[in-house]
Amino acid sequence: MNHSHDTIVAIATPPGRGGVGVIRLSGPDSTAIAEKLCGPLPSPRTAALRSFRDPEGATLDSGLVIVFPGPRSFTGEDVVELQGHGSPVVLEMILAACVDFGARRAGPGEFSQRAFLNDRMDLAQAEAVADLIAAATDTAARAAHRSLEGAFSKEVDGLAEALVALRVWVEAALDFPDEEIDFLADGQVAERVAGLRARQEALLERAGTGRLLTSGVRIAIVGRPNAGKSSLLNALSRHDAAIVTEVPGTTRDVLRETITIAGLPVTLADTAGIRETADRVESEGVRRAEREMHAADLIFWVVDATDPEAHPLPGLPQSVPLIRIDNKIDLSGESPSREGRHVRVSAVTGAGLDLLEQVVTEELGLNESGGGEYSARQRHVDAIALAGEHIRRGQAELDASGSGELLAEELRLAADALGEITGRMTSDELLGRIFSSFCIGK
Ligand code: GDP
Ligand code: ZN
Repeated sequence: MNHSHDTIVAIATPPGRGGVGVIRLSGPDSTAIAEKLCGPLPSPRTAALRSFRDPEGATLDSGLVIVFPGPRSFTGEDVVELQGHGSPVVLEMILAACVDFGARRAGPGEFSQRAFLNDRMDLAQAEAVADLIAAATDTAARAAHRSLEGAFSKEVDGLAEALVALRVWVEAALDFPDEEIDFLADGQVAERVAGLRARQEALLERAGTGRLLTSGVRIAIVGRPNAGKSSLLNALSRHDAAIVTEVPGTTRDVLRETITIAGLPVTLADTAGIRETADRVESEGVRRAEREMHAADLIFWVVDATDPEAHPLPGLPQSVPLIRIDNKIDLSGESPSREGRHVRVSAVTGAGLDLLEQVVTEELGLNESGGGEYSARQRHVDAIALAGEHIRRGQAELDASGSGELLAEELRLAADALGEITGRMTSDELLGRIFSSFCIGK
């Protein structure tokens, strides 16, 4: 696991051509290798222009070199950054020269992994580096940056510490059996457990929003043919002209488009129209629509407001919030309006689309400025939910039997679950999986 005895090297800038390309070295031989490549090095954290030479002395490129001595560097080790010209060919030659001088090509995420192992950042912060780089909207980028600076970890640690503090308190009481009865019965412990549970629930909600910022929101648009699904999708993508990313994967039956709603990357899937018929080909379309609905975070059910007939929506999953959208109000003569999860809009005139965005923002638990407080990942959400499960069990044990032992054990398990988020309790196997999903050079 710990490779810190060797020195790694990678191209830190994305593949392709650019004005500048950065190569990063990290490890005990970083400065020695850089010296062989470009001669005497400048003093720490100052840039100097140097020629980069291979072992035969042939000049490969010229550029800036900066030395960051450990432990005050990204990885906590000695780091050297070489800024050459942004040519993939030139950068590869410099990289090869570094390898000739004794460096090893870094694997995916190895720089971040070293930063984590050397306590420069916790696991959630290291993940936030990757999420910041991958951010699809400005809100997502800002949230990832807050996680990178430790806003999310701080809340997780705060709750974990409170769990440990209560556990220690309960265990101390268990050591003094006479006092245990008073102590557990006087309601103070039950109150504190309830307080921890409320805190866990609030954290779960915020992490859930943070997860949406990282992974994006999936919305399935369903409804009968000609209800106006495609028109609505187009209208929304025009309405939110911010950053529109094309997502490949347009299939015969499902058309996807990524737009921005309240700063969230939202992938809208326009499914083939749902019909209530037994026809073979159409029922295949219905199946696909159902699959989309089950995978979605929200469902837009588009209804033609000029259609007097009521058509029930088949195969609706119970677990996914449904927003009913009566479309074509410009034809039906209705005004744009909203009652709960029911809105009236016109995809053609754009009337009511702001109300629709309002419902989406509310359903996804976003704050007024449109964003979450920090970014998070599904694995974090799962860990917080598991912690909540243990707190609830401890609470039930306390209620049912007044058992301090079982409560203490559940509190310990809850704190351990949270420890997985920041990496205090994380197995090598999970660490390997997380860092290997990063890019090389990160
Ligand atoms: P889909 O089959 O559900 O995707 O429906 P389309 O988006 O293809 O729309 C079907 C027809 O209804 C098209 O002729 C659209 O121009 C029209 N349409 C969709 N939305 C509106 C609307 O809000 N107002 C009016 N007047 N026509 C609409
Ligand atoms: Zn359509």
